[in-house]
Amino acid sequence: MTSRPTNVSDVDNHGCKVVTSLRCPTCENRFDTEKTTAMPFCSERCRLIDLGKWLNEEQSIPHVPSLDEFEESSLDELP
Ligand SMILES: [Zn+2]
Repeated sequence: MTSRPTNVSDVDNHGCKVVTSLRCPTCENRFDTEKTTAMPFCSERCRLIDLGKWLNEEQSIPHVPSLDEFEESSLDELP
């Protein structure tokens, strides 16, 4: 029995570096994931911009009646 492989690392040994690039959700530029500390954004600045957008949207949500309010008003209309 000598068919057992002893070294399979040749497959991965291309000698070139794999760079993963992503598109920034804020500025839509492509960037290397290794060059940022603010994943998945290209920079800390874009991360903060996106965070600010989320906060603004939360503040602009209209008042939603709670379940208690809804049940009380519908009970009044029942025969
Ligand atoms: Zn960006």
